Amino acid sequence: MEKPKKVKKPRGKASLIPNKCIACGARCQSSCPTEAIEMDEKGEPIILADKCIGCQKCVKICPSEAIEMFFTPEELEILKQLGAEKAAGAPAEAEEDSEEAKLKKFLAQFHNVWVFVEQTDCTPAKVSWELLGVGAQLASALKVELCAVVLGHNVEKLCQEAFAYGASKAYLIDDAILHDYRTATYLEAFCSLVEKHRPEVVLMGATGLGRDLAGAVATRLRTGLTADCTGLGVDDKRQLLQTRPAFGGNIMATIFCEQRRPQMASVRPHVMPMPAKNESATGKIIRETISIKEEDVLTKVLEIISDAGHMDTVDIGGAEFIVSGGRGLMSKDNFKILQDLAEELGGVVACSRSAVDAGWMPVERQVGQTGKTVRPKIYIACGISGAIQHLVGMQDSDLVIAINRDREAPIFEVATFGIVGDLFQIVPAITEHVRQMKAQRGTPKVC
Ligand code: FAD
Repeated sequence: MEKPKKVKKPRGKASLIPNKCIACGARCQSSCPTEAIEMDEKGEPIILADKCIGCQKCVKICPSEAIEMFFTPEELEILKQLGAEKAAGAPAEAEEDSEEAKLKKFLAQFHNVWVFVEQTDCTPAKVSWELLGVGAQLASALKVELCAVVLGHNVEKLCQEAFAYGASKAYLIDDAILHDYRTATYLEAFCSLVEKHRPEVVLMGATGLGRDLAGAVATRLRTGLTADCTGLGVDDKRQLLQTRPAFGGNIMATIFCEQRRPQMASVRPHVMPMPAKNESATGKIIRETISIKEEDVLTKVLEIISDAGHMDTVDIGGAEFIVSGGRGLMSKDNFKILQDLAEELGGVVACSRSAVDAGWMPVERQVGQTGKTVRPKIYIACGISGAIQHLVGMQDSDLVIAINRDREAPIFEVATFGIVGDLFQIVPAITEHVRQMKAQRGTPKVC
């Protein structure tokens, strides 16, 4: 007997609901797998019905619910029939096998937020603790655990420190093969942990080591990685919202990784605030081992040569007071007036990229997207216009004072106090004023 032909469930076509689009930046267009969406001059989508396959990706991604599925009267009739058959107990179409169901099943296997605790000779990189701070917020939003990953040799004490900064669990691989950082060994160790315990989110510091490891891990796991994030959050679909400057820093893009896990992001030091430390906090240590043998590792560390002494040793990243100069300083020698003010304040001198490009300051002092991120108590910007690439590196300072002779300079938009005028008059005047105030207060007497 001939088998009755299965009626195919109609998929419909995407259709724009008038006056609901908010021109969010063509998210629908980038989600479409068949190039069925073009954008008009207002930034709204034009949906090409003949190319639409009814996958609903644009419907799901639209932040203003401006796209719906359209069905013809015939398709609506079929849907009605299928609904009635399903209610009567007829075998449902094999929806479980649909791509979406498979994806849901895959994503459901991943839990918890992981932070990689970077260390050198058991000295942790502070960025790891900063990441535990933001990691705790993500874990709370996702209702999962915050976990630290500690790799190295004789590094167990870092697990306790991770608990003090908010982790409730630490995955530890303590092995002599991990004493010095090598991509191959750390990659093997980290990926073996991910494959076994399946984290939903992985955060690493965007340091030299972190950048190397994060890229290698993401490649091995075939997942996405957003480098140098300046903001992290989660949406109601458990997606990690990874915000970072894009297109040379001219826009801020929020990136997410829909179909792969773990969701990986790196964040530069000082971008996230340091969380409070609770010395009495405790957690659970999960000890794991690494299978790779020394003879299988091609890279050998013969000697570690410190570059201290060859580099500028001032750490602008950790400074509380920063006096920063830009092209407005006009020459290398003029940075002396900033140095005088910094010394009076007990701070350090930093600069914009223009000052580095001009050879006036070393690159270690550069603040911004391709320089360092700083969050001092006071940032005094002198002769700096405030390009977005500079702002991303200093806009989280507690207080910003901008000195610029151009009252329209963008730096004034992020400044707490703005002084419009010539820095060559204003900076020495402030320095003198600070000196006088200190002299009036006098040196405290030791009794
Ligand atoms: P300008 O933009 O030339 O501003 C000089 C300012 O000094 C002006 O506003 C002027 O009014 C003022 N001025 C002049 N004389 C005086 C005076 N006597 N008294 C008071 N004010 C005066 N830039 C960074 O800083 N950090 C980065 O990390 C960085 N990364 C970048 C990455 C990319 C991919 C790109 C494309 C650019 C990057 N830049 C970065 C460069 C950035 O776009 C700007 O070009 C740069 O920040 C400008 O430096 P500036 O403000 O010192 O110079």
